[in-house]
Amino acid sequence: MLTVEQATEAILNQVQVASTSHVALQDCLQLVLADDLTTPHDSPPFDKSMMDGFAVASSGFAKHGERELAVLETITAGTVPSKTLDANCASQIMTGAAIPDGADCVVPIEQVTFNKSGSSVVTICSKNVLLERNVLRKGVSARTGELLMKSGTKLEPQHIAVLAEFGVAKVPVFRRPTVSVLATGDELLAIDQPLTPGRIRNSNEPMLVSQIQRAAATAVPLGVAKDNRAELGAKIREGLTCDFLLLSGGVSAGTLDLVPSELAAAGVVQVFHKIQMKPGKPLWFGQLTTPNHTCWVFGLPGNPVSSMICFELFVRSALRKHAGISPAAVECFPATLTESITVRGDRPTYFPARLQRTATGLNATPVPWGGSADLRSTADANGMCVLQPRDTTYEAGDIVDSIAW
Ligand code: AMP
Ligand code: MG
Repeated sequence: MLTVEQATEAILNQVQVASTSHVALQDCLQLVLADDLTTPHDSPPFDKSMMDGFAVASSGFAKHGERELAVLETITAGTVPSKTLDANCASQIMTGAAIPDGADCVVPIEQVTFNKSGSSVVTICSKNVLLERNVLRKGVSARTGELLMKSGTKLEPQHIAVLAEFGVAKVPVFRRPTVSVLATGDELLAIDQPLTPGRIRNSNEPMLVSQIQRAAATAVPLGVAKDNRAELGAKIREGLTCDFLLLSGGVSAGTLDLVPSELAAAGVVQVFHKIQMKPGKPLWFGQLTTPNHTCWVFGLPGNPVSSMICFELFVRSALRKHAGISPAAVECFPATLTESITVRGDRPTYFPARLQRTATGLNATPVPWGGSADLRSTADANGMCVLQPRDTTYEAGDIVDSIAW
């Protein structure tokens, strides 16, 4: 049986980085930039005012005293000045408007006195005039041809905004993958159905769909396949048209655990089955390769917490690799246990926990948890801590690895 580390390595060896395409900017959130981008123009693209006020030529002002200036025009944002200033005049200007030729200072409107004759003459005090005051010069933020954004940048709202500023409407990115979700089991009911004897609701589908969405991939839910070869085989073939296929259930040792054999029948080649971890031991992973399509397939254990944890550990790493994120493997952070806890057995336990940032680092509080079928308790968790097998109890204050969800 592979260790978690070996399984992760096997998955990351198999999964390839997505092809690249040009995607509309509004659809790029959390995709990864596939090319270095250079600035197509200066930012700002013209000298602009940072205040509502009056543009003046500072050279006309002595150290002290005040001056009366004739007002030439009013320049609003989006228009261009039509008059050149000299030392005897000023132009009223709004924030974001282009600075007129001859001006090198904008005096805020609050510091200007309007003369009785109306707004055609204003009085301005020398102490409020300073070379370059409230003037943002063309190109101070970025110059044409500079590196704007590096390949490998994960596009968050701030990057989307910068790309919009520079008119990058179609962005070269690693393509967002499609991930189909197929729950298996005769016992599964839709979430809006009342319970009947022996049945449970299909909680894994909405869980996996939202985990996929959180990982910035496109989920394709396929509903439930009953535990018979005809239905399972047909749904598997449907799911294999996506970039990834996640099955839940049917990978253990039950008489109706048909997933591995039906995947093999559909041409999916097994990379590994079963790993040394708790929960999640029955995990299955393989790949379908055809001349023009590859699909990576995870057979997740049916028990909900096993499925959830295997997704966060393995599927998330696979999606990160495919998305062009480096390093691809999910990150572990050291955390201080706040309570003592005992684990049994010889496999590492991935234990649902409440992770909390403190002034001195990360704390991990394991939630009361009854094992792989106890989904309810994960509602109190926001991550997991990794408890390696050992004979003694873990004590409060011990440092363990943790993974945030
Ligand atoms: P299996 O691996 O198919 O034997 O399933 C293991 C356990 O997980 C059984 O108790 C199943 O009823 C349960 N299970 C399987 N699939 C789901 C699902 N989609 N939602 C909730 N529980 C499930
Ligand atoms: Mg089953």
